[in-house]
Amino acid sequence: MTRWCALGALALSTGCASVPTPLVPGARGSVGWPSYGVLLDATRMPPTAPGVRLLRPHNERNFGTKALVDTLLFAGDVTHARGSDPPLVVGDLSGPRGGKLKGHASHRVGRDVDLLFFYTTPAGVPLLAPGFVKVGPDGLAEAAVPGGFVRLDVPRTWALAKALLGSPHADVEWLFVAEWVEALLLEHARAAGEPDHLLYRAANVMHQPKDSAAHDDHFHLRIACAPDEEMSGCVSGGPDWPWRPVAALRDDPATLVDD
Ligand SMILES: [Zn+2]
Repeated sequence: MTRWCALGALALSTGCASVPTPLVPGARGSVGWPSYGVLLDATRMPPTAPGVRLLRPHNERNFGTKALVDTLLFAGDVTHARGSDPPLVVGDLSGPRGGKLKGHASHRVGRDVDLLFFYTTPAGVPLLAPGFVKVGPDGLAEAAVPGGFVRLDVPRTWALAKALLGSPHADVEWLFVAEWVEALLLEHARAAGEPDHLLYRAANVMHQPKDSAAHDDHFHLRIACAPDEEMSGCVSGGPDWPWRPVAALRDDPATLVDD
């Protein structure tokens, strides 16, 4: 790990914000820490796809690693059960080469994205997320809609969290969210009979950050570095969750030796 931390630091010290450096030709993809790094070989999130759309399709904040973009496409597809369902609305990812993104402390290495929750009218009719609206402990949020309020669609927002945790393309490192929204989602999941291992993972990755806004108006998803990404400069900075099989691989050097 030390070696690749050094690699990330080197990339960052050589004009990191825009171009790959010839001094570290092996660096690719997500390089460095989420709050101090760059993104090489970025994948652009399409403006629309089945069950998903970008909140701001015309800005230059729609780039991520391929694993992140594939995870968003997967989550949109999974949560889009009926043709009439409003799509998942995706906010900022990273810039085309990563680096500092105004308004965000992280979002620099293509592993972070903001996701709006799903909503209904107070009477339970699904509607497109009206933007970043603050959800209270009762699940209601003031919004510029007729009637003035929307209701968090708890079952569908839980389905989103579940889809992210089940992504075949990436592991979730964090799903930042206010603790009262997390409580609503876990209460629903338990009542729905979701398995203990899923509840355990969800309860761990859902977390209200201490050093930023409470995240009562969106999820902030951060995916983990895959093992091959760690070899090319990705630096986690997050926990090694015990359910990730790659943790065992990394911890046992013998498993890295070719026969
Ligand atoms: Zn964010």
